[in-house]
Amino acid sequence: MKNKIYDVLLVGTGLSSLAFIDSYLEKNKKIDVISFKRNTKEKSKINNKHIFKILPPQMIGEENQVLDYFHFNKIKVNKKNNFFGSLEFGGLSNYWGLQIDKNILGDINHLKKNTQIKILNSFKELFKKLSLIGNFDDSTKNPFEKNQYIGKEFFNKNYDLYLDEPILAFQKKSNRIIKFSDINEDKDKLTPLNFYNKHLKKKNITFHNYFIEEIKDYKNLVLINCKNSKEKKTFLTKKLILGCGTLITTKLIMDYLNISKEVRINHHPRLFSLYFSKNKWKNAMKFQPSHLHLKSKSKPYLFTADFRPGNKIIIDAIIKFKFFLSPFKFIINIFRENLIFSNILIEPKHGNLFMKKKNSFYEIYSKNKDVKKLFKKINNTVFKFLKKTKRFLPFYINYFPGYGADFHYFGTILMGKKGKLSVNEKCQLRNNKKIYLIDGSVLNFKKNKYPLGLIMANSRRIGKEI
Ligand SMILES: Cc1cc2nc3c(=O)[nH]c(=O)nc-3n(C[C@H](O)[C@H](O)[C@H](O)COP(=O)(O)OP(=O)(O)OC[C@H]3O[C@@H](n4cnc5c(N)ncnc54)[C@H](O)[C@@H]3O)c2cc1C
Repeated sequence: MKNKIYDVLLVGTGLSSLAFIDSYLEKNKKIDVISFKRNTKEKSKINNKHIFKILPPQMIGEENQVLDYFHFNKIKVNKKNNFFGSLEFGGLSNYWGLQIDKNILGDINHLKKNTQIKILNSFKELFKKLSLIGNFDDSTKNPFEKNQYIGKEFFNKNYDLYLDEPILAFQKKSNRIIKFSDINEDKDKLTPLNFYNKHLKKKNITFHNYFIEEIKDYKNLVLINCKNSKEKKTFLTKKLILGCGTLITTKLIMDYLNISKEVRINHHPRLFSLYFSKNKWKNAMKFQPSHLHLKSKSKPYLFTADFRPGNKIIIDAIIKFKFFLSPFKFIINIFRENLIFSNILIEPKHGNLFMKKKNSFYEIYSKNKDVKKLFKKINNTVFKFLKKTKRFLPFYINYFPGYGADFHYFGTILMGKKGKLSVNEKCQLRNNKKIYLIDGSVLNFKKNKYPLGLIMANSRRIGKEI
């Protein structure tokens, strides 16, 4: 075989991969990246439309990217589930809600102290370099204008609940407190393209337009078989870095290790809730992320509820899925800032997503499990708190969109655990130290309900150390 031998080859261009590239190129001159460029005008050839029971508002119009992600990666999603991925530059990271949970250390305290410190420092470096907004600690802050509607004064006697502010992934720095009305939603968002244009464009990065199908051993190298719409190609590398997002990274490793047993995909089951505020909540943006999180301290129900006022994109998405509401669209839009939308996210132990090889495909499915009772209890807790503020009307609407519709997939090949399906603290696969995993597959998120900050901090750390 006369293929070129790469020192390091990265697969993926989501935010986990870009955070890796950024720190890797601080010490190294160049990097090669496998990144598939799908023809965006082309319609997908597959038709399992059930996965669009409720497409996230940010992803409406991107159906073909999602369908081809499943098609090329040979994944079937069971009819009961709602699962998303995207095969394009940036992947799922193009659509995220820009909220980062500040709890960076809470879910990694089983790792060595030194590893924890390196991840924490990498997070602070990202915060400063990307000019994220919010307060992390006294030396790492870039404050934004606070929410004025529900505040800490309602917590005097409540020991179980507390309010937290997320860090928001807008790249903006100002000497004054940042106002949402001053944010440019196209330019300031931490999207993969903005990250690339601002920090990586002038660097020496070679993109290879293929998607990866298979990993194999070849002498003392790693061999990967790739494809695009025209041809097949084989790459050989001394070190392979996988940042394909949890699902595809896990699938490739299961294939490589010949694992045919069921693998659990950890995730945060989500309840959508709609509450009705007596006053309008200001909203200067097309898609404003929540800047207020209600969290619980008590173990049985570790949850996070976020709150944001309605906006035109959300209202359009609701009308698309509940068409009978279309005659009322005008009125709904007048009151949209009184409509407070909440995601209640709960711990992965209540999750219910699995993956298993079935012939030439991998199937994603869930089992019989009732999470609705638990959500009912948690919603009661949240609603009781909102009622105490005397700023809400006494009714609400709940909707459980199914397992997988939370878009947070992680914790399949954990760092610091034992067994074939695990990585060491340098994120090297136990059975082959030449393969590194840098996305959500190596981390679990029990306390932290908005994982991308920690995922990026970890991949940045590996980029520095490799
Ligand atoms: C609507 C929505 C809202 C969200 N909100 C939040 C939030 O507020 N906070 C938060 O923390 N998280 C949020 N998430 C989750 C977050 O977006 C993901 O955790 C994150 O984007 C994962 O990043 P990644 O780099 O690991 O994977 P991805 O961004 O999915 O990147 C995977 C990469 O691999 C590529 N790829 C896939 N298969 C192949 C293949 N076979 N060959 C080659 N390349 C391949 C893809 O093209 C892509 O470049 C949200 C997700 C969605 C969809």
